[in-house]
Amino acid sequence: MTIQELAAFLENFGEKAFRARQIFEWLHKKQVHQFDEMTNLSKNLRAMLKERAQLVILKRVEVQISKQDGTRKYLFALPDGNIIESVLMKYKHGNSVCISSQAGCRMACRFCASAIGGLVRSLRPSEMLEQIYQIGQDIGERISHVVVMGTGEPLDNYDNLLRFVELLSEEHGLHISQRNITVSTCGIVPKIRALADRKLQITLALSLHAPSQEKRLQIMPVAAKYDLSEVMKACDYYFAKTGRRMTFEYSLIHGVNDTDADARALCALLGGKNCHVNLIPVNPVKERSYEQPDHNTTICFKNKLEKNKINVTIRRELGRDIDGACGQLRKKYL
Ligand code: SAH
Repeated sequence: MTIQELAAFLENFGEKAFRARQIFEWLHKKQVHQFDEMTNLSKNLRAMLKERAQLVILKRVEVQISKQDGTRKYLFALPDGNIIESVLMKYKHGNSVCISSQAGCRMACRFCASAIGGLVRSLRPSEMLEQIYQIGQDIGERISHVVVMGTGEPLDNYDNLLRFVELLSEEHGLHISQRNITVSTCGIVPKIRALADRKLQITLALSLHAPSQEKRLQIMPVAAKYDLSEVMKACDYYFAKTGRRMTFEYSLIHGVNDTDADARALCALLGGKNCHVNLIPVNPVKERSYEQPDHNTTICFKNKLEKNKINVTIRRELGRDIDGACGQLRKKYL
C-alpha cells in the first residue's frame, strides 16, 4: 500500500493518519519482519495489523558468491513456495540489484533459460521490493540501483510494476531515485506507450537482439505479435514523452546476429537516435545450443556501431562462475 492507502485503511479502524507514515517507514525503511517490531505503535494497533494485514517475507534458500567479482546470486522462496532468483552486482557507482518480476516467463525467447518452464505467476509489488530489502540487509550496505532484468517480463506484470516503482522511489521508503531504476522489456508495444504516458524518470531498456523483423522473429516469438517497426515507434514515443534516453540490449549470438551485415543493419536501424546500445555476448544456457562470438567479432561489431556514432558498451560479464545469467540458477534448482 502507498502511504495514502495505508492512511485510508487505518482510518477504518479509528487510527490517526500519521500512523500510516510510521508503518510505512517500518516496512520500507527499517524493513522489519514482524508487526511486533513496530514498537512505536500501540499493542492494539499491532494486534489489529496481525489479524488484518500480511507482511510478505521471502525465505532465503541459497546464496552463491562469485569468487571472481563478488557478485551474489540469491534464490528466494515466495510465501507460496515458488522459487525466484535475484542478483547483486557491485559497481564503482554503487550496489545494483537485479530482480525478478515473475516466477517464470511466458515470452519464450529462444536463448533464455527463464523461458524454459513457462510462466508460473506474476510477482506482487511486495515480492519485488523484498528481494531488494533482503539483499541490502544481507550485505549491510545501501542498494543504490535496481534493474528489473531478472526472470519475467515486467510489462507483462504492468500494474504491479508501476506500484513497485512508486513504492521503491517513495521518499519515506528506500527512496531510490527513478533515474537509478531500469526496466527491461522484450517489447510489449501498448505497455511501452502506456508507460511513456506516465512520464516516469526510469530508464527503459529494450531487448532488441536483432536488426530486422525477420531475424528477431527467429529468436523472439513476441515479435510475431509486435512487429519491429511498431516496437521502434513505441521506443521513439517513450523518448519523446519522457526525455529519457533508451537503452537497446543486443545479445551477440555466434552465427545468428553477429555478422557484418547485422552490424550495418543495426546502424541503419538506430543511427541518429539518442540511445545507448548494450552488447551482451550471449550467456550459454545448457538447454540451448547458442554460443558467444569470439572476442574479436564482438570488438569489430562494437567498432562498427561506434563509427556510426552510436553509443555502445560491451556489458561486463559478472558472476559467470555462479550461474549469473537469466534464470540459470532457478532452473538448476527446479
Ligand atoms: N523480459 C525482459 C527482462 C528480463 S531478461 C526482457 O526481455 O528484456 C533481461 C535481459 O537478458 C534481456 O535483454 C534478455 O533478452 C537477456 N537474456 C536472456 N537470456 C540471455 C542469455 N542467455 N544471454 C544473454 N542475454 C540474455
